[in-house]
Amino acid sequence: MAGFLRDELTADETALIDRAAAFARDTVKPNAAAWERERRQPVEALRAAAALDLAALEVPKDAGGPGHRYMVKLALCEEMSRADMGFAFSLVNTHNVAARLALSPTARHREAHVPGLMKGEIFGATALSEPGAGSDFSAIRTSAVKTAEGWRLNGEKGWITNAAIADLFITYVQTDPAAGWRGIACFLVDARRPGFRRAEPYALSGGHAIGAGGFALENYIAPDDDLLAPPGEAFKLAMKGVNGARVYVAAMCAGMLASALETALAYGASRETFGRKLLDHQGLNWSLGDVANDLEALRGLTLAAGRLIDEGGDAVMAAAHAKKFAGRVTLARIADCIQAMGAAGLREEHGLGRHLACAKLAAYTDGSTEMMNERIGAGLLKTYGPLS
Ligand SMILES: Cc1cc2nc3c(=O)[nH]c(=O)nc-3n(C[C@H](O)[C@H](O)[C@H](O)COP(=O)(O)OP(=O)(O)OC[C@H]3O[C@@H](n4cnc5c(N)ncnc54)[C@H](O)[C@@H]3O)c2cc1C
Repeated sequence: MAGFLRDELTADETALIDRAAAFARDTVKPNAAAWERERRQPVEALRAAAALDLAALEVPKDAGGPGHRYMVKLALCEEMSRADMGFAFSLVNTHNVAARLALSPTARHREAHVPGLMKGEIFGATALSEPGAGSDFSAIRTSAVKTAEGWRLNGEKGWITNAAIADLFITYVQTDPAAGWRGIACFLVDARRPGFRRAEPYALSGGHAIGAGGFALENYIAPDDDLLAPPGEAFKLAMKGVNGARVYVAAMCAGMLASALETALAYGASRETFGRKLLDHQGLNWSLGDVANDLEALRGLTLAAGRLIDEGGDAVMAAAHAKKFAGRVTLARIADCIQAMGAAGLREEHGLGRHLACAKLAAYTDGSTEMMNERIGAGLLKTYGPLS
């Protein structure tokens, strides 16, 4: 089954996504089960993906990147997640840091960090969440206090993708607790500087290639020019950027679901029970038809939101719809694919158990399903009301 975003791409973009799909098939898929068993992030495979320019996509040409549009990243996310969503998410998070720092007014960020991130020599992460604050981002407590030498940062971050390996963390902190979201600022934190302490990566139910973990800042001094967004701006920038992330998580879910369906169909077309192929039993055939039906709906919502983001439109509602739907159907429909294969669906070699665990991770990253309800609920009247 070809990727659903391919029709959107130019010939050059398609060539890049073909390379990504071949890498997913030949390198990620055969090794993903071992990474899971070893509970580790595959640094060597992330470097190999970067060598194919897959960590550079949106980095503008004047910063040494290819300057691809958002739709290319979306297609990459889908293709890579067919093999392993944890790997896709890790790769795209380093890419996001490269693309963000490429726009920094500070020459040191662009020249010292962006080339290494694009080549996979170093890795990046974005840190909003903390052990005590996830959905309620405005409640973060990691503090930043202005000093004569720069800013002194103290606090703890948790549930950060790539925390196991990242060198550079785009980190959100509170400068004035009384100001709530208006007090939040954003800094570049370099794990190689004094005052940074990495925690052990989490042991999860699955999806270890994502490298989720945490870190502590203990009197970490950030130079003034490592302030990426000042109080008042940082929160709004984070909220704007999260729409793109929500839609690529939906694309990752579409990739996993397409892969699960393909596997179940291949199995059902060859195995026989009661003298017929499994797929010739109407009950089972209909159940996989329901999977295909939800997959098409997920693809449609994802594509509509992706186009809006590419056009620079207001994608808040479209992104929330795509991510909410992904959260609602992916886990259940992957479970249906496993069911359709009988006990064989549980075998590690098919990768469906890994998809199942990653579908659950996807229901939290970049906003939980409940937070999508909040977003959609807040826009109901304006979007669907009598005066809309
Ligand atoms: C694998 C993985 C990778 C991640 N990577 C990153 C990363 O790179 N950077 C980063 O900053 N964060 C990351 N996160 C954190 C993610 O953004 C949070 O998990 C998410 O925001 C939810 O926060 P929480 O887990 O603390 O749940 P909580 O906020 O504690 O919520 C617990 C439950 O209550 C629900 N809930 C909360 N408030 C309400 C409400 N008002 N109404 C109804 N229900 C509510 C939530 O939806 C959730 O189901 C990652 C998470 C995972 C699982």
